[in-house]
Amino acid sequence: MAFEGLSERLQASLAKMRGKGKISEADVKEMMREVRLALLEADVNFKVVKQFVNDVKERAIGQDVMKSLTPGQQVVKIVHDELTTLMGSDVVPITFSQKPPTVVMMVGLQGAGKTTTTGKLANLIRKKHNRSPLLVAADIYRPAAIKQLETLGKQLDLPVFSLGDQVTPEEIVTQALEYAKTNHHDFVLIDTAGRLHIDETLMGELENVKTIAKPNEIFLVVDAMTGQDAVNVADSFNDLLGITGVVLTKLDGDTRGGAALSIKAVTGAPIKFVGLGEKLDALEPFHPERMASRILG
Ligand code: GDP
Repeated sequence: MAFEGLSERLQASLAKMRGKGKISEADVKEMMREVRLALLEADVNFKVVKQFVNDVKERAIGQDVMKSLTPGQQVVKIVHDELTTLMGSDVVPITFSQKPPTVVMMVGLQGAGKTTTTGKLANLIRKKHNRSPLLVAADIYRPAAIKQLETLGKQLDLPVFSLGDQVTPEEIVTQALEYAKTNHHDFVLIDTAGRLHIDETLMGELENVKTIAKPNEIFLVVDAMTGQDAVNVADSFNDLLGITGVVLTKLDGDTRGGAALSIKAVTGAPIKFVGLGEKLDALEPFHPERMASRILG
């Protein structure tokens, strides 16, 4: 399971604190040394760790906490609160367009789970928000991508707009938007091209698609298992494209958790959804507070 090591270590450190009747500054510092190491080992970005440790210390060493009746518990609560804040505090819902259709551009590197997530998200939007989604196959480079989206569409009984792989993504998107209007699809999800690495051609193309599609949301799909790399990828995509949210996939695997704990702080972009399996209903809105509680037990 995700976060196993981190969770165990943080819980052990906090357990020592929780029971204490009285705590000293040295106790807090000792605990934060352990927390710091646990976070670094979980692959959390080092700047994020530094800031986190400072924030907790600043609040925990305050007179109010040290002199309170339950200082140990208060320190534990501070760690919990700061961990929640780190991951974004609130659940950030999808921004729907006032004037349909709402357009969502799905971007990400190959293998991150972009195509699968496009299907999952369309399914969730249909069920939860009662919308009529259209999937758009604009990844013309990965040989099987269009077929994969069409298969997903069939499984989910959702329409897929495709013009094959001989037409430019710009043209596909232009026609798809017209099709959506004519056929009353109020939610359009564009599966864009992924590559193994970020390169200029990819970014140029995504910028063009963005100009044409005028998306309400640009979701970056990143693989949580890639740790620090996930954060670097998010940073680059955000710089070039201005992402509005992140979907963190494969949180069902044994990721150490670094990406989930760093992405918001490093990029400013909120994690909006998490992928929790290969099945098409394994996508959930991201709840920072619940995740913090899960990690801290
Ligand atoms: P793309 O190249 O980014 O479009 O990636 P795909 O959508 O083809 O996904 C790559 C692989 O990751 C597939 O085998 C998916 O089933 C798998 N995958 C996607 N999301 C998740 C997830 O949340 N959990 C797990 N365990 N596997 C996932």
